[in-house]
Amino acid sequence: MAEYVAAGDKLPDNFVLMRHDVDVSAKNALKIARIEEEFGICSTYYFRTTKKTFVPEIIQDIEKMGHEIGYHYETLSKTNGDYEKAIKLFENEVHKFRKICNLKTISMHGAVLSKYDSRDLWKYYDFRDFGLIGEAYLSVAKNLNYFTDTGRGWNSKNNLRDFIPGKTEHAFVETTDNLIELIESSQISNFYITLHPNRWKSTVFDWSLWWLQELALNSGKRVLIAVRR
Ligand SMILES: [Zn+2]
Repeated sequence: MAEYVAAGDKLPDNFVLMRHDVDVSAKNALKIARIEEEFGICSTYYFRTTKKTFVPEIIQDIEKMGHEIGYHYETLSKTNGDYEKAIKLFENEVHKFRKICNLKTISMHGAVLSKYDSRDLWKYYDFRDFGLIGEAYLSVAKNLNYFTDTGRGWNSKNNLRDFIPGKTEHAFVETTDNLIELIESSQISNFYITLHPNRWKSTVFDWSLWWLQELALNSGKRVLIAVRR
């Protein structure tokens, strides 16, 4: 992400910008980071500051592989919409990262059960004041083709906040096979892909548990979307 932001308009003709939002467990992220390392891929891992995700040893391991580390912030939802407290907390959490790794970019955690969108902080404050160069939703161009695994499948309708604000048309894919086909077809030249390491399982048992959880969560989310509209 930092590389993308720093490139400005000097981007390559074809590229994939890949980001991982580490919501649940640092261990899952580590597994995926290793797989990418094997394929020579560098991506960005955004960590929440919760106990299971903010694991300094793992964060440093992933950084050593050549991946970028980012901060998955949710301070406005954590402080229930108190902007002053939220920006103080943001500053503290930025320091937490800077003690253990480089930090240049951030990504909002779309806390589904909270009515606060932590990106709203930037209506009153500027993340650049914290030495940061980019925010994963706000610092990307509208011509990027955004693909996220939030919800079920790709770019699901059960998705409250995970899209680029103001961007309307986007390439549509349903399954991961479709996405692979689209990449191979060279029909579009850029891909901005967001993955959640906890959504990718390697055993049938893991998958079954995950589907049950998702089913419960998505029915809750659908209600929220209906209410807010
Ligand atoms: Zn998240």
